[in-house]
Amino acid sequence: MSGTDWPAYAARLEIKGSAFIGGERCDARSGLRFDCMSPVDGRKLAEVARCGVADVDAAVAAARAAFEDRRWAGKAPAERKRVLVRFADLMLQHRDELALLETLDMGKPIRYSLSVDVQLAQNCIRWYGEAVDKIYDQVAPSPEDSLALVTREPVGVVAAIIPWNYPMLMAAWKIGPALAAGNSLVLKPSEKAPLSALRLAELALEAGVPPGVFNVLPGFGIEAGRALGLHMDVDCIAFTGSTRTGKQIVQMAGQSNLKRAWTELGGKSANIVCADCPDLDAAVSAAIGSIYFNQGESCNAPSRLFVEASIKDAFLERALALVPRFAPGDPLDEKTVMGAIVDQVQMKSVLGYIESGKEEGARLLAGGAAAREESGGLYVAPTLFDGVRQDMRIAREEIFGPVLSVLAFTDLDEAVRQANATPYGLAAAVWTADMSRAIRTARALRAGTVHVNQYDNDDITVPFGGYKQSGNGRDKSLHAFDKYTELKTTWIQV
Ligand code: NAD
Repeated sequence: MSGTDWPAYAARLEIKGSAFIGGERCDARSGLRFDCMSPVDGRKLAEVARCGVADVDAAVAAARAAFEDRRWAGKAPAERKRVLVRFADLMLQHRDELALLETLDMGKPIRYSLSVDVQLAQNCIRWYGEAVDKIYDQVAPSPEDSLALVTREPVGVVAAIIPWNYPMLMAAWKIGPALAAGNSLVLKPSEKAPLSALRLAELALEAGVPPGVFNVLPGFGIEAGRALGLHMDVDCIAFTGSTRTGKQIVQMAGQSNLKRAWTELGGKSANIVCADCPDLDAAVSAAIGSIYFNQGESCNAPSRLFVEASIKDAFLERALALVPRFAPGDPLDEKTVMGAIVDQVQMKSVLGYIESGKEEGARLLAGGAAAREESGGLYVAPTLFDGVRQDMRIAREEIFGPVLSVLAFTDLDEAVRQANATPYGLAAAVWTADMSRAIRTARALRAGTVHVNQYDNDDITVPFGGYKQSGNGRDKSLHAFDKYTELKTTWIQV
């Protein structure tokens, strides 16, 4: 427990919704704003600048000017490191404020905004800052009369478009490697949760990131997002969001200047529990904890649970005993582990999927309805369906809510085939005591991350991204630099 009186802090928190261009807060050129509402209790948090084409032009011009005069790209890596580490320190100093913005804006429990979102986001910025003065370029095998240098250079102006489910962390996954590599950045947060990104831009400036290097444009996808996708002076677009929008981003890149387009997209991850699972309690706890964490609004949530038929009853009995612990509560109460659904649109979509599960004949064992309606906020009870078939919508489509679908299997090869029978390929898991079976299964699963006998391990040191329609890039780890750098070969006559 932090000891902070969160409701009192929320009541006095000053929230600014203006954009951040060229090192300054500003209104949208059009003067338009949109209301930013809290899913916690339905209150209006701020009026936020509704950026459009003119703002995108201004932010890209500011980023281009900063890149061309080398005010950031020209700094020694050790200097960029110093600034980024200071930026991470400032995030820690403002930990409570950032966590509160995140909770109010998108509804996640304050305990996780503090311990997960701020913590991982600052660690990400720090890690890339720390990394950048430890990376060497290469000298290629060269003939005796020449020297071939292979060096990395920043791409230039990077546009990053991010979703609302981990607003600060998704921002950090782009900001860290993009800025460490020396690029200028224009970041468009989701219209559903733009507040923490705007605050990050102020902290970056305070830390010493020069004006124009990091710009934030709140606004709608179809306006600011589309203008970034089509912009002729953006060199690279790093997109995280739905597969549907990701396809449009790639098209926009092709239709404009063939900017590099990197996508991190949706998921429908499979969690396979075999009868010889070494620790059934651990498997149950991971399955339940991971699907309901962040209200199920996680791209890698294990939303399809394949359980070997012989242990299904034992598994479900233990699972159902855990579900009530995830009953939604007040996100500003540090005891709460499940918060609010981000907005009405998402709420309606999640409840619609629950109805489709009922209509298509799945057995509802827990939840299945809205909760805490008296709060004025948006909450869904943790929901569990048994008897799910592969052809049901709840087994095929990304729900992005606290809904678990249980499918029984008798043959592991068939379970793997079904696990792979999805356009997505973000994450998967297998639980078995037989290590060669585990390795064979992990190899067969078509996903960017596969867990064996656990679900939640994650670290900035390892890449994160998808196979198939879960995207074409990797965030995190040193591999992320591949997105934000060009490789240059320089031949030198000696
Ligand atoms: P979304 O695609 O609706 O929006 C994502 C971002 O794109 C927002 O900033 C939005 O304003 C913008 N956008 C929307 N339409 C656009 C357009 N036509 N042109 C340009 N920009 C546009 O997704 P969402 O609902 O915000 O996020 C949920 C999705 O994100 C889920 O599918 C989830 O799995 C995915 N996600 C993936 C990862 C990952 O790392 N793979 C991480 C988090 C979330």
